[in-house]
Amino acid sequence: MDMSNIDGYWHDSIELDYVYTLGVAGERFFREALNGRIMASRCDECNRAYLPPRLYCSRCFKRLDKWVEVEKSGILYSYTYVNGNSDDNDSYNDGCTAYALVRFNGVDGGLICKVINKIKDLKIGVTVAVDLKVKDDGMVEFVAEMDVGK
Ligand SMILES: [Zn+2]
Repeated sequence: MDMSNIDGYWHDSIELDYVYTLGVAGERFFREALNGRIMASRCDECNRAYLPPRLYCSRCFKRLDKWVEVEKSGILYSYTYVNGNSDDNDSYNDGCTAYALVRFNGVDGGLICKVINKIKDLKIGVTVAVDLKVKDDGMVEFVAEMDVGK
């Protein structure tokens, strides 16, 4: 530990390690994802489902105990490109990776997904197939695929 006051101030560092929990809804969401299911919490009074799921409805504040499976087909709502090598090196276009916000019919919110094909041809509003991969380190990655079945 180097504690000095060369310029009239104490210079030192404090190591800060944080561990964030997923929370109750987040933990269930990721446990379901490990089994291949994308789940949303649902409020029957407001007729809304939430993704990422939450424990309370933001409209009526009712506790949400009902969960519904989300169809793995959504609409590309927005996207961005990230330059640089991805950690799993499966992108093309000179290390450029595309990430998309995908929204689902009848669901508030959406998922950020890595686009796995045709990243040069992304268009807002197109239908994409969404799936998930469990990576070697146990992390869940949501992926979107353009033009499935064409
Ligand atoms: Zn509600």
